[in-house]
Amino acid sequence: MAKKYEGRAVGIDLGTTYSCIAVWLDQQNRAEIIHNEQGNRTTPSFVAFTNDQRLIGDAAKNQAATNPENTVFDAKRLIGRKFSDSNVQNDKILWPFKVISGVNDKPMISVKYKGQEKLLCAEEISSMILTKMREIAEAFLEFPVKNAVITVPAYFNDSQRKATMDAGAIAGLNVMRIINEPTAAAIAYGLDERTKRVGERNVFIFDLGGGTFDVSLLTINDKVFQVKATGGNTHLGGEDFDHRMVNYFAQVFKKKNKVDITGNSRALRRLRTACERAKRTLSFAVVTTIEVDSLYEGIDLFSSITRAKFEEINMDLFNQCLKTVESCLIDAKMDKRYIHDVVLVGGSSRIPKVQQLLQDFFAGKDLCKVINPDEAVAYGAAVQAALLSEGFKNVPNLVLQDVVPLSLGIENEGDIMDVVISRNTNIPVKKTKVYSTVFDNQLSASIVVYEGERARASDNNLLGSFNLSGLPCAPRGHPLEVCFAIDENGILIVSAYEKSTGSKNQITKTNEKGRLPSNEIKVMISEAENYRTADENFLKKANAMNALDYCVYKMKKALEKNDMKLKLSSQENEKINSAMTKATYLLDNDKQSEIGVLENHLNELESLLQLVIGKSV
Ligand code: AMP
Repeated sequence: MAKKYEGRAVGIDLGTTYSCIAVWLDQQNRAEIIHNEQGNRTTPSFVAFTNDQRLIGDAAKNQAATNPENTVFDAKRLIGRKFSDSNVQNDKILWPFKVISGVNDKPMISVKYKGQEKLLCAEEISSMILTKMREIAEAFLEFPVKNAVITVPAYFNDSQRKATMDAGAIAGLNVMRIINEPTAAAIAYGLDERTKRVGERNVFIFDLGGGTFDVSLLTINDKVFQVKATGGNTHLGGEDFDHRMVNYFAQVFKKKNKVDITGNSRALRRLRTACERAKRTLSFAVVTTIEVDSLYEGIDLFSSITRAKFEEINMDLFNQCLKTVESCLIDAKMDKRYIHDVVLVGGSSRIPKVQQLLQDFFAGKDLCKVINPDEAVAYGAAVQAALLSEGFKNVPNLVLQDVVPLSLGIENEGDIMDVVISRNTNIPVKKTKVYSTVFDNQLSASIVVYEGERARASDNNLLGSFNLSGLPCAPRGHPLEVCFAIDENGILIVSAYEKSTGSKNQITKTNEKGRLPSNEIKVMISEAENYRTADENFLKKANAMNALDYCVYKMKKALEKNDMKLKLSSQENEKINSAMTKATYLLDNDKQSEIGVLENHLNELESLLQLVIGKSV
């Protein structure tokens, strides 16, 4: 029986481009997607730093074009990876913000905040987004939220999962469980319920988002979820379709006006925004117009595009998605006829042509699309969060049983990968294997841990290594026990033990792959608190400035009315004049003005305003 947590818990889909948060409403028997202060049900996974403040979510994304070097996104592409990782090296070229190598090859994002350079790791950026999501939930629920279930892609490895948990801890959240995004989507559809009727169900999850494409094949049997295979493309999604449309309209514009906009980043940016909007419209309409005033050299763009044209310019990308679906099924050795449900996830899965191609591929099968595709993952995470919490009566009863996505083992003599836990084993799991020393009187043994399917250890993914020392003098072949334990979050602990001496050692964290040591997490938690205080102070000051500015305006209006100055004594006029001069000085010199001084002065000016209003009646 899993441990139950006290208090309200939320489900968070921490996405590459957008994040979403949901909470289980027991009385209404469903999860609720919580909208942010802008009324949006998803929040951009963006954090921006300026000379005065830190912005998160919509506010950060909205100013990205004017502050590109200090607007950070895509932290999910960095989390739990090394700087030298080829994915990081390739992504780095595309980002407008700077990423450098830190201690232990950890990627660090460099930004300018309040005029100073700041280095932040991906966990810290993700923690800022998680904090924002928590605040969105707290504003809705009107009480503090502590516990959360966070989702990650099914292919995330051990260190990416751990780093996501670290991000949660820095945000002050108790991460009850990390679950796979496709599993969460299947839960949202209550697909486990259907197993009651037909027994085992094979569920195909098609997740086409803004920048990533993921497919997964799950098997649900008696409320047990297993990921059988995953696939995808880390650089395919809505942004690519927008890009194709931008190129198309740049050509249309060139043909008509004989000017090339492709070298002008401002024109391209404005065109991209218009194209993204048009693309969304084309999911519901068969034709749409596109208008951008003064796109380039004062020339307006006024044109239209049909759904058919949009499909034509993106057809190769759509077909690429289908190829990925096919290879995932081949990987899982499953014929498409055995798929019971196909679930749509991700905003771009709304594109009608994508849906049609997918439906045709699965011989006309109805697609699961009643839940908003960008919300299904958070919905499922909220169900899981409620299940792990005390006090809910109406939560669907299910047991999550994930599997190990990649085989895990250690390096044996001759660079051989010796698998201890094979791919697709159910978790949690604990396995012990006995190894032997390779020399006479060998006093220590090095345990090198890998994940992957290749026969040569060094061709796999290195997770970490440690030494078991203090071995007894003994002939070669002396036994050593190595134990691999994976918990329900998919997190691995490898330990080694020598019986006669009782020598023990283990890896509790895989530093080599970028996990943060607990003392660093503590430092980051206190830094997060500093950021929060700075944000609060900024808001407080901005509010005080606005209130003072408004009070000055009201005073000016009140004085203009019926020539109020004549009705006031010279002493009163003098007092008001000097208070107004001081207010103007404070407003003009906002950098130096302190909150306390602003607030005091506001009080003073407000009481003078009351005096003026009192005399005017
Ligand atoms: P996600 O990351 O899953 O929230 O997906 C965001 C992507 O979905 C963005 O590229 C959006 O432009 C795209 N998107 C959202 N709504 C639609 C729609 N109605 N039609 C086509 N694409 C959409």
